[in-house]
Amino acid sequence: MERYLALELAGTIRHDGNGGVADDLSDVAGLDAWIAERVALLDGVDARSLVADEAARAAVVALRAAVRALFARAVRPGPPSPADAHRLLPVEEALRRINAAAAAQPVTPWLDWPEALPPARRLAPSPVDPLTGLTAALARDAVDFLAGPLRERLRACTAPRCVRYFLQEHGRQEFCKASCGNRARAARHYRRHRAAQPSQAASGSAQSSHGVSGSAQPSQAAISASDTPPATVESTTASRANDSARP
Ligand SMILES: [Zn+2]
Repeated sequence: MERYLALELAGTIRHDGNGGVADDLSDVAGLDAWIAERVALLDGVDARSLVADEAARAAVVALRAAVRALFARAVRPGPPSPADAHRLLPVEEALRRINAAAAAQPVTPWLDWPEALPPARRLAPSPVDPLTGLTAALARDAVDFLAGPLRERLRACTAPRCVRYFLQEHGRQEFCKASCGNRARAARHYRRHRAAQPSQAASGSAQSSHGVSGSAQPSQAAISASDTPPATVESTTASRANDSARP
């Protein structure tokens, strides 16, 4: 499966499996691990000599905010990821950040055409410090992603508690993966059941302390408690939620 840096950068804000939102870049160690897993994708980046410090983390997180703001724009008229829908960067600021990061490292295109292989367009980045190289590579990927055909396949998953952006593989795909589809159907079934039997369902949700824990931080994920299915559904989906956290 093809991987895209911009999509993976946006995906560092993710469902934590317990109804909240986790941030893989919340500390320097998280940034270090994220980069280490993507050395092969970071073409032309001297990732090994990059010192992941607080300045680097702040720079990458600032770029991520720009990418997520533009992803929110790209999925219109569909809903954006609920994780940050209430505090998105203005589009002008997002564009300025992406373009400034990309411009900080001039690149020269060159033609690579080995015998027996098709010709390929490559980019030779000019030497810059490792952090500038990293943010420039992330920004270039965001430019290519958003200006290319992938943008039209970008969607925000609409399953309860999921905050992922994903690429639609087929026409009507609403959810980033099967486990999200299952959770959405369970939530829909629960809402229908509760609407049919309001008093019973109300007492049921009062007893399900485990299920309610998922909505303990509703503002974080901007998911209302009414989207949280009762404890039985919650516990069966919790383990699957962890695998949905990984790309
Ligand atoms: Zn999802």
